[in-house]
Amino acid sequence: MKIAILPGDGIGTEIVAEAVRVLNVLDLQFETETALVGGAAYEAHGHPLPESTLNLARSADAILFGAVGDWKYDQLERALRPEQAILGLRKHLGLFANLRPALCYEQLTQASSLKPELVAGLDILIIRELTGDIYFGQPRGRRIATDGHFPGAEEAFDTMRYSRPEIERIAHVTFQAARKRSKKVTSVDKANVLETFQFWKDVVTEVHAQYPDVELQHMYVDNAAMQLVKAPKAFDVIVTGNMFGDILSDEAAMLTGSIGMLPSASLDRANKGLYEPSHGSAPDIAGQGVANPLATILSAAMMLRYSLNQPAAADRIESAVKAVLTAGLRTPDIWSAGTHKVGTREMGDAVLAAVTGKTITTKS
Ligand code: NAD
Repeated sequence: MKIAILPGDGIGTEIVAEAVRVLNVLDLQFETETALVGGAAYEAHGHPLPESTLNLARSADAILFGAVGDWKYDQLERALRPEQAILGLRKHLGLFANLRPALCYEQLTQASSLKPELVAGLDILIIRELTGDIYFGQPRGRRIATDGHFPGAEEAFDTMRYSRPEIERIAHVTFQAARKRSKKVTSVDKANVLETFQFWKDVVTEVHAQYPDVELQHMYVDNAAMQLVKAPKAFDVIVTGNMFGDILSDEAAMLTGSIGMLPSASLDRANKGLYEPSHGSAPDIAGQGVANPLATILSAAMMLRYSLNQPAAADRIESAVKAVLTAGLRTPDIWSAGTHKVGTREMGDAVLAAVTGKTITTKS
């Protein structure tokens, strides 16, 4: 097994270092190779996704990614901005399925913006199609309108589209993931208004015929947005297109309290994947040693489960994270009165201790 380690920018290097330390104590046989990506790669090689980094990602069985970006690159032309590295990796590696668990740990219910009883024990999985939809559909651009409400006026347009194979493959990923959970899928669409999403609904329903043991319901996206904050625990697995998934997964992130706790996976057809925290490079706290490494550590656990077929090792990491939270350790983003505030390294030390069965200590 070979894991490509791409720490990136900002807090990326700090949090990935902790995840790698945790992976290294698991007694698994794997090789790691580290490469620059994002702003760091632009500084060194003049491109956010150099050929050498892309080749490493291609040759690896899985990729552990930190985060990229910094405000200082905002003036660069779009193709050279750090964030293009993620889009490039998704495109070149065919990473079409984005899995984002939203899990609210009992110990952190106070950090959620919803009432504790609505989120306590929340454990849902949002699956977002990542390479199609209105974000990539052609044609797109600006032009002078020849029809519509204002012929002759300047207008902008995008194209929403999904092909049958694109919907079929994300539907298969979803039903297979649901089989490992409580076998309940909600497919979110806007079939009442959009042709693309009537097609989405039809194809998901057809694929569902191959998974009779899984329950499928369809829901319009506006209702799904409401239900997510009204009764989020009623969901188990949610599957949707690229744009609706972008919005709903961030909404779900907030149910759990802190973006610093949320892992994610982006998978290809063969379950090779890129694993990264759901948050960005947080330039406002980079270099201070206060970033929460748990989303990245939990991303490493997802990597072991989905790409490297090591579910027992993934369970060990996830249990260790629960143990450090139970012991009261908190980075500043999840801190509340009565708990023990720690930095990135101390949180990593505590997870390491828990993974190896040692007592978790807090230095006061
Ligand atoms: P961000 O997610 O980096 O930060 C948002 C807020 O959350 C900040 O206050 C930050 O301090 C806090 N935060 C984020 N992760 C944290 C952690 N692990 N522990 C504690 N606090 C944490 O989003 P932003 O500020 O909008 O963007 C900063 C940069 O990151 C931009 O350049 C953006 O383009 C980039 N970005 C990259 C990715 C990625 O690499 N996948 C994703 C989103 C944003």
